[in-house]
Amino acid sequence: MKIINKKNNQITFTAEIEESLANAVRRCVNQVPVLAIDEVEILKNDSPLYDETISHRMGLIPLTMDKPVNEKTVAKLKLSTKKEGMVCSELLVGDVKVVYDKIPITSLKKGQELEIVATAKVGKGIEHARFSPGLMFYRNIIELKIDKDCSKEVVDVCPQKILKTENGKIIVEDNYKCDMCEACVDLCEKQGKDSIKLIPTKELTITLESFGQLSVEEIFKKSIEVLKKDLKEVSKKIK
Ligand code: SF4
Repeated sequence: MKIINKKNNQITFTAEIEESLANAVRRCVNQVPVLAIDEVEILKNDSPLYDETISHRMGLIPLTMDKPVNEKTVAKLKLSTKKEGMVCSELLVGDVKVVYDKIPITSLKKGQELEIVATAKVGKGIEHARFSPGLMFYRNIIELKIDKDCSKEVVDVCPQKILKTENGKIIVEDNYKCDMCEACVDLCEKQGKDSIKLIPTKELTITLESFGQLSVEEIFKKSIEVLKKDLKEVSKKIK
């Protein structure tokens, strides 16, 4: 396992694991519970958006809490404003914090008002997208076999810029970045050659992205815990 990229809310690493196992973990991401706004009471809405649209937008605002959450966690939030301009998530105040301040909810003109009371609860992404903690995707790492007669033009057509020439030869750098777009293969075919072969290896690059409620490490660990629990249940039933 090797980490190849780590940003705030995203991690990419390589791992030599079965695709079926990676897929099972991926499917468990949406079973990791997170908080989201579940009920919205609109007391006043002079904005141009329907109550339903505002409620839908609020449900998708990622929330976070300082203490650990469980199925019984319930949090209250309020939004009350008469300020002209864009109404953003930062105006939501209560027991939980919004992860991003600048998510637009609606806009108000002078003299207009918006007053909302909301309840957040814990749920899972398999119930509704608003409870989704993030996403995971993976692909096989590609091994490239390049023949000597391959045209040097392939270096320029590669959108990932992973092909280079060194001592007159075409070499591959960071082959885990190859997304199998086949631009290099197509160019060779146009030239009547079969100089590049893309061979999927058993190794995967796995990317996890968090929507902000949990860290990517927490999402990965919790997804594996969910999978382990499910497997335990299955083996109990089989016995
Ligand atoms: S398949 Fe696409 S990304 Fe991979 S080496 Fe060829 S051009 Fe580059």
